[in-house]
Amino acid sequence: MSIAENVAAIQANIAAAAIAAGRNPKEILLCAATKMNDADAVRQAIAAGVDCCGENRVQELTAKLDQDAYRGAPVHFIGRLQTNKVKQVVGKVDLIQSVDRLKLLEAVNAEAARQGIIQDILLQINIGREESKGGFLTEELPLLLPDLAKYTNIRVQGLMAIPPICQDATKNDKFFQEIYRIGVDIRDKKYDNVWVNILSMGMSDDYESAIRCGSTMIRVGTAIFGARDYTKTHQP
Ligand SMILES: *Cc1c(COP(=O)(O)O)cnc(C)c1O
Repeated sequence: MSIAENVAAIQANIAAAAIAAGRNPKEILLCAATKMNDADAVRQAIAAGVDCCGENRVQELTAKLDQDAYRGAPVHFIGRLQTNKVKQVVGKVDLIQSVDRLKLLEAVNAEAARQGIIQDILLQINIGREESKGGFLTEELPLLLPDLAKYTNIRVQGLMAIPPICQDATKNDKFFQEIYRIGVDIRDKKYDNVWVNILSMGMSDDYESAIRCGSTMIRVGTAIFGARDYTKTHQP
């Protein structure tokens, strides 16, 4: 199947999952996870109607920006970000989804201040409490959230989560539900500078479950572009 056919099939699945959950399909945005796919593939996905693109690696982001690959669609950063690379990402992307620790949040805020801009971000939550993954732990949030007002050059637009990899897609429902609950709680408490406009959760294997649990943005790679060819690179 072509990229355009894959995107159309996913959009139909999004609509069906949303309607089955009593939700408006328009509430759910499709972010194409474009890592390891070239500018031409990215352009095909945008032409097919994905809402935004998410890039994992700074080097790939920079190369594809130079090739004008994202024209016509917002671009997000969704990967692990080292603090010494924030200059190459802040102000270059519409949203940094993967702000996963305080040190990075501070570095993004400082770089945005230097540029005189406000950078939209999501807080990445380590919902499965995995050693191998970044993200704030849920128990860190009560201290963090009231403190975010002082970072005046970022704007927190919501939450992002990558639950543990598992075989049975519905196994992650409890993690998706927990993110949804945290979002509701944040909304109720009304922290300055913290919005819950976006709950970014769900990937190729589990996006329908995520939509059922309240996701407003799914990040899909394989189901759009096919399996990634890891033999072409040393870094996954
Ligand atoms: C690669 C990636 C995705 C998409 O994964 P697929 O299983 O290929 O859909 C989503 N989110 C992040 C952060 C990723 O790195």
